[in-house]
Amino acid sequence: MQLVGVAVKFVNQTMSIYQDFGLEPIINASGAVTRLGGSPMPAAVLDAFRDAAAEWVPLEQMQAAASRKIAHHTGTEAGLVAAGAAAALTLGTAAILAGHDLRRIESLPHCDGFPNQFLIAREQRSGYDHAIRAAGARFVEVGFNEIVAGAGGRRTEPWEYEAAVTEQTAGIVYVFAPDSKPDLAAVVEVARRHNLPVLVDAAGELPPRSNLKDIAATGADLVAFSGGKSIRGPQSTGILCGRKALISSAAIQMLDMDDHFELWDPPANLIDRSQLKGIPRHGIGRGSKVSKESIVALLTALELFASGAYDADLPRYHSNLTTIQDALADAKADCRILTPAHKEMWPLLEIRPDCSALGRSALEICRSLRTGSPPIYVSHGRLHAGALIINPTCIHDESISRLAERLKAELC
Ligand SMILES: *Cc1c(COP(=O)(O)O)cnc(C)c1O
Repeated sequence: MQLVGVAVKFVNQTMSIYQDFGLEPIINASGAVTRLGGSPMPAAVLDAFRDAAAEWVPLEQMQAAASRKIAHHTGTEAGLVAAGAAAALTLGTAAILAGHDLRRIESLPHCDGFPNQFLIAREQRSGYDHAIRAAGARFVEVGFNEIVAGAGGRRTEPWEYEAAVTEQTAGIVYVFAPDSKPDLAAVVEVARRHNLPVLVDAAGELPPRSNLKDIAATGADLVAFSGGKSIRGPQSTGILCGRKALISSAAIQMLDMDDHFELWDPPANLIDRSQLKGIPRHGIGRGSKVSKESIVALLTALELFASGAYDADLPRYHSNLTTIQDALADAKADCRILTPAHKEMWPLLEIRPDCSALGRSALEICRSLRTGSPPIYVSHGRLHAGALIINPTCIHDESISRLAERLKAELC
């Protein structure tokens, strides 16, 4: 298996399959964002997808094999491949809410008569928490956004979670980031005291590779990762990993359940059949099913990611950004390469246009890049600070000179 970065083979843009659909492929300088199609799948991942399509296996057995691999790479008891980290969060929530209780499984997202409140730090709420609410959870917010309000320097504190626990509390949701507060370990400690599970959204928290294991090692019960970001699996995959009983519940709420209970013999490492008095109908997660091809492709990508194979791309990213920076030497803009915070992370190129000299705002330049040919999508996360960001991870080497030319035309 070819492990190095060149394993990502891009097609020649002049013969793009997207032209058959009336679309012009873009230069993606935004990185592995969902709305632009995610990360570049290595050749080995695409080959695995194709090979998996040639034969059939029972999905629950495939997921059981995935569970073993995910458990190995994350140091958890079990794992499941879902249709993205957001789907993994919905399934994880459903597992916490319903366990192996057939009535609860059937009733989700309605939770009449059983606890469905999840504690979450107010500062950790985002559009992604809809995936958790979708299973039937209701949020109870703790803490305050004092830093934003300028009302003080304190963040959410562990006692605030503890003070909010009631009979109606079903679990705690934690959104992991390097600067999340309080530390996950402190939240897990509170949860343990009250026998509550902790569900962690760590969708985009790879690299570092060590997070695969370190997040669950805090004692968190379930952790969700994206499969289509840095792992470079299919865009529509995600990983849920953690406690075996919860993964078992998540699996039966996602898998197709059209079988006879008498015949149904699911793999014991994935599904605890002994907990069930009958075979549930299709569950709330049935809409986030994942194909056997996607599962195999994701596991292939996970193997590559965990082995450190993608580090081989880092020098190429650096030299591509340097090429762009050099091309913009005379531009009316400050360009600098941002050194990554971790050695497994990629560099970024920050471009700060001199807006008064150019007579245009960074937003206008961003729009103009998108509407040209080929359309160029730079990362817009720092537009508020007047900066365009070039993320090198989804740019073909052959597109670098075209990208530099277009940027130059906008910035000179
Ligand atoms: C990307 C992301 C998600 C969603 O992940 P998908 O794999 O696209 O479903 C959820 N939460 C956070 C914090 C993310 O960054």
